[in-house]
Amino acid sequence: MINIAIDGPAGAGKSTIAKLIASEKGYIYLDTGAMYRALAVYALKNGVDPLDEKAVDKLVVGVDMDIKYIDGIQHIIVCGEDVTSQIRENHVSKAASDISAHPSVRIKLVELQREFAKTHDVVLDGRDIGTFVLPDTPYKFYLTASAEVRAERRVKDLAERGQTVDFKTVLEEIKQRDYNDSHRQFAPLRQADDAVFIDSSEMSIDEVKDFILSKI
Ligand code: C5P
Repeated sequence: MINIAIDGPAGAGKSTIAKLIASEKGYIYLDTGAMYRALAVYALKNGVDPLDEKAVDKLVVGVDMDIKYIDGIQHIIVCGEDVTSQIRENHVSKAASDISAHPSVRIKLVELQREFAKTHDVVLDGRDIGTFVLPDTPYKFYLTASAEVRAERRVKDLAERGQTVDFKTVLEEIKQRDYNDSHRQFAPLRQADDAVFIDSSEMSIDEVKDFILSKI
């Protein structure tokens, strides 16, 4: 199986690029951030604080997560409920980052990701795909951009979904999430030593896509 890992911080354009590469190569796209987001939605619905490790550990034991593709779009079903439409709300980003720091959560979701990669040609985007989930894949990319450029992209993205947010707030949230994601103890956000580094601040989507395709 071919497994392409695209890691990097929030708002670097990973999902846009990963989808394009998957569609050009005829592979499946697996958005691993969506899995952490879906679990965060489930925790909030069940009154569990994503920062409360003990409560999250308990919750995770009984969680059943399923990934389905409907008309080519990834859907996440948690304990029988499709939570896909709820995972992009702005408050879920912070909750996902908080919940993703707990080892019990990562062990559970990484197992699903590895199983998926074993059975599919797939482009995965995330934070720890090249370093932890699939350290042996030869196709690893680390995609980043300045925090300001990423915040601008996120504001635009949310506006397209009908959510109005303030640039400065989003910039602070992005910086906080970068810090959380790169400072957690278990599988933090980090460039794998053998990953190709790409700074997309001054690059178009097509330029990034073509560059990655040229390396595969
Ligand atoms: O990529 P996205 O912004 O949707 O991810 C939401 C959160 O999920 C990230 O801030 C990060 O904390 C977590 N995440 C992770 N490992 C991954 C993918 C996402 O910890 N492989």
